[in-house]
Amino acid sequence: MNVPMKMHAMLLNEQRKPLILSEVQVPHPGAGQVLIKVHTCGVCRTDLHVLDGDLSEPKLPLILGHQIVGTVVGLGAEVDRFALGQRIGVPWLGYTDGTCRYCLRGQENLCDHPEFTGYTLDGGYAEYTVADQRYCFLLPQAYNDIEAAPLLCAGLIGYRTSRLAGEHVERLGIYGFGAAGHIIAQVATYQGKRVFAFTRPGDTATQAFARRLGVYWTGGSDETPPEELDAALVLAPLGALMVTALKAVAKGGVVVSGGIHMTDIPSFPYHLLWEERLIRSVANLTRQDGEEFLEIAPQVPVRTAVTPYPLEDANQALDDLRSGKLDGAAVLMI
Ligand SMILES: [Zn+2]
Ligand SMILES: [Zn+2]
Repeated sequence: MNVPMKMHAMLLNEQRKPLILSEVQVPHPGAGQVLIKVHTCGVCRTDLHVLDGDLSEPKLPLILGHQIVGTVVGLGAEVDRFALGQRIGVPWLGYTDGTCRYCLRGQENLCDHPEFTGYTLDGGYAEYTVADQRYCFLLPQAYNDIEAAPLLCAGLIGYRTSRLAGEHVERLGIYGFGAAGHIIAQVATYQGKRVFAFTRPGDTATQAFARRLGVYWTGGSDETPPEELDAALVLAPLGALMVTALKAVAKGGVVVSGGIHMTDIPSFPYHLLWEERLIRSVANLTRQDGEEFLEIAPQVPVRTAVTPYPLEDANQALDDLRSGKLDGAAVLMI
């Protein structure tokens, strides 16, 4: 296929500085890698954490973005999973060693030597990218390129977060109703759960958005739900919400943080944790999470709410995400 030598990318040269539209070399696919013409790339809160320096070890300069939808336009040696012209998705987990104790026991999300797309590897805020074929997914045909992008992190990390809340969840709280929250609320409702969505206090627009998606109850994170919850997902980066959610869960209830970074969790009295309540985090994803979620999403069917931005407006998209202006997910169109 006809691939140019140079491409446009939004480059992160230094943390805490805006991304800069730059002309860079189109990457060359190494052994086992595919070269992808990027169509869309979702913007994730993790991108903000990389930009802001909350995650301190990025490759620099770096191309952010780990919810990549594109077409395979080049094949490195030994590529056998994909063919030229196929549409694929690239998620956050970009590589694992396959040999550490975690990989060997099926916890590749905890790998000792991982690589992450848009953090330690270049991502999708660019016209082209390369990815290890083993970590890419075929995408359901039911979704166009814009709709599919948020499935790749918001969707599948949200799915893992929800899965780790346990089996016996009938009443599910979701604290922070953004890109991940709006997707997982639809899956949970489809699974017969009653969803209680908590937004920023007074954010009636997002509460109305949540009700349109079929959630059972909405309120501010400062409100007490009308009944106890069996589990709660905390999808906003505020440690205090872990304690708020712990107060809302019933005996044996689980509170799961879906984020890679949050502010400190305030201390709390032991009686909030008593009766086998549990707080835990979710780290990364496994490929199996991705396969499962991408199979279930079109059955629900999950509808993604997206706000599109041109590539060169990536800084604006990140600012809008930071300020909570968006309902659903921001997606760059490339
Ligand atoms: Zn490993
Ligand atoms: Zn993400």
